[in-house]
Amino acid sequence: MTEDVRTATGASKERLDAVYDTALLDLDGVVYAGGEAVAHAVDSLATAREGGMHLAYVTNNALRPPSAVAAHLSELGVPADDADVITSAQAVARLIADEQPKGARVLLIGGEGLRQALVERGLVPVDSADDEPAAVAQGYGGPDFPWSRFAEAGYAVRAGVPWYASNADLTIPSGRGIAPGNGAAVEVVRIASGGEPKVAGKPLPPMHRETILRTGAKRPLVVGDRLDTDIEGAHAGGVDSLLVLTGVTDVAALLRAVPEHRPTYVGRDLRELLVGHEAPRAEGDGAWVCGGARACVRDGELVLEQGGAGSGQGAREGDGVAMLDGLRVLCAAAWSEGGERGFGGEIAGAVEALGTGGA
Ligand SMILES: [Mg+2]
Repeated sequence: MTEDVRTATGASKERLDAVYDTALLDLDGVVYAGGEAVAHAVDSLATAREGGMHLAYVTNNALRPPSAVAAHLSELGVPADDADVITSAQAVARLIADEQPKGARVLLIGGEGLRQALVERGLVPVDSADDEPAAVAQGYGGPDFPWSRFAEAGYAVRAGVPWYASNADLTIPSGRGIAPGNGAAVEVVRIASGGEPKVAGKPLPPMHRETILRTGAKRPLVVGDRLDTDIEGAHAGGVDSLLVLTGVTDVAALLRAVPEHRPTYVGRDLRELLVGHEAPRAEGDGAWVCGGARACVRDGELVLEQGGAGSGQGAREGDGVAMLDGLRVLCAAAWSEGGERGFGGEIAGAVEALGTGGA
């Protein structure tokens, strides 16, 4: 399916939780951050679920098994069953099972989540390159993962054993900042082995396939905070998406997004799952309007002519909605001007004028 380059956010007259049957929710930066629930996540998800939307949680983190993730979510007040959690460990285990002999031995370089996923597919995890594995499976092993495990992977991969990685995220958020993720660990093995892994996680098709197989979603909506995993994965799967600003993506990165990183909808947080979305309209003079907001590109600079947080009627909620209209017109002006390569002009003034609207 070819798709025109997205130059503006999309419209939905009805609230999103009524239009889409399943929300495929990223976890870090969307539902929780540093172990705590993100603001408005618990209430918004409860409302969506009561209205009949199926909620599924899709994570590139292969460390914890679904039961541990579901227990953490339930503790935070987001009730989840084990089957509602889909991990990149499950996606990579299916990929290995599809390509390797039934019951194959797999050198496990990762944690309990990956071990359980391999066993679920009838594969046999082994510890040593000397165990004659048919494949190497690598997933995030946690901050105390022993360096010697990477050597083990290196021996096997250099000897020609097919190498699979759950995901390639270079970093992982921790309570204290940004830490090396599985993608960084993959680089360690790559340097030692000269090999090249097959990767399963977002934004790649094996993860999307795993998610659709496990949820049975007919009309899914991807909800995420990262452009290069969540939103790009939605594009690759031909699925609509909602970007929330509670995680790693800020307004500047969204405005500069290349086409495959542009979401269908934008939101401050998960409250925007419960409302309709208005699309910006192009005016004849090159400006874009939405609600009370208006933006254009003038002499290469993105300009918010009307709207933004400061233009609300004083109420905090009103400010937030005004901010969203401002964000929509800025995205449309920047994306349409930036085309395939993304917008490269000045944006600082527009981002400041937009404000944060109590987001
Ligand atoms: Mg995230």
